[in-house]
Amino acid sequence: MDFTLTDEQQAMVEMAEGLAKAHVHGPSVTWDEAGAFSWEFMRALAKQGLTGIDVAPERGGQGLTLMDSVLVITAVASCAPHLADAVHATNFGAIRQLSTFGSERVVDDVVRPVLAGQAYATIGMTEPGGGSALATLRSTGRYDGNDVIVNGGKVFNTGGPEATHVVAWVRFGAAAEDVGAVVVPVDTPGFTRGATERFMSGEAHCELGFQDCRVPSEYVLMDRNGMRKMMSVFNIERLGNASRSIGLGELAFRIATEYMLDRETGTGRLADFQGLQWKLADMRVKLDSAKLLIARAACELRDGVPDPLLTATAKLAANEAGFEAANQALQICGGYGYTDDSPLNYIFKRTRGWMIAGGSVELLRHRIAREVLKRHSRR
Ligand SMILES: Cc1cc2nc3c(=O)[nH]c(=O)nc-3n(C[C@H](O)[C@H](O)[C@H](O)COP(=O)(O)OP(=O)(O)OC[C@H]3O[C@@H](n4cnc5c(N)ncnc54)[C@H](O)[C@@H]3O)c2cc1C
Repeated sequence: MDFTLTDEQQAMVEMAEGLAKAHVHGPSVTWDEAGAFSWEFMRALAKQGLTGIDVAPERGGQGLTLMDSVLVITAVASCAPHLADAVHATNFGAIRQLSTFGSERVVDDVVRPVLAGQAYATIGMTEPGGGSALATLRSTGRYDGNDVIVNGGKVFNTGGPEATHVVAWVRFGAAAEDVGAVVVPVDTPGFTRGATERFMSGEAHCELGFQDCRVPSEYVLMDRNGMRKMMSVFNIERLGNASRSIGLGELAFRIATEYMLDRETGTGRLADFQGLQWKLADMRVKLDSAKLLIARAACELRDGVPDPLLTATAKLAANEAGFEAANQALQICGGYGYTDDSPLNYIFKRTRGWMIAGGSVELLRHRIAREVLKRHSRR
């Protein structure tokens, strides 16, 4: 097994890092920046061919590999944490459901504009009644002639305040599998956005409402019996989320290492204290293990999409490793780490959120156990 990046991958990583560094002033993130989506950086990514990296060329993408996308998002997240939102939106989020399941019309009306940095699609999955039990969601899609009528409501939409389109997960029938998705442009009559709210990390989100929103049936991505297929592509989103946990964890690790080398206390240098050295060692092992699990999930695809067991394993390891790195780095930096304007403030809160978003760590454990038992009983 060769772990060396190809020359092309190395060049792409350096280009992504260079671009991120040119658009950011340091690893600290102000709450204004954290709450605002960078359209400017998204357009810069588009200009450099860093959007739709592993989306098929006939769907508007670059036709490279999922591992290439993982390398780029990890690189951006580790030097400019909040700018990775734009890499996510154009390579891992709603864009993947749109580019995989969308009709030609969806590709022209939504996918190409998103990949050009002109539009932003958000995923509307979670409902006020609960996010983990997705199969029980209540929003509906109903065919009416050549249209589909969408009703319902969503909460916690990251980027909702900025979005031009929503991929609304809705049910087309009563069965658990009858969950599919429809893309709803935000100028559709009957669509409403709630007030902008903020997560603990500063990220903006809002509620979304659909009251008799009528869209062309070509905007349906998946209808009856869609749940399994939708989830298989959602695993790409999960690997984006996992890669960002590692990117931010790496940044925390670098901050802690530099601080240990620089900081002299009355009794010696932090880098000379074994109790802190062991923290670095544990962080390194957890970050590297999770990185390898992400690479395995991104490379060993099944029918072109990540395997659910490998994805859940990678996301769980990465979410916990990223948060643990942030938490330990904060401890190593002492009172300075705990100040409001420390970069660790943002890193700590952001990595904490990924233990909930896109499949919580509890749900991932549940998924891993279920897959292991299912696969074992088939033998
Ligand atoms: C930073 C962030 C960004 C987000 N962005 C989006 C977005 O863009 N679009 C979107 O649709 N949603 C988004 N969400 C919502 C997210 O998907 C949900 O918060 C998540 O799915 C959990 O749903 P819930 O909050 O309703 O918790 P609940 O489903 O009510 O669960 C509450 C707690 O119970 C645990 N739990 C639930 N079921 C079980 C079980 N069977 N066994 C053990 N434990 C269980 C959960 O893990 C959780 O800890 C975001 C959330 C966060 C934090």
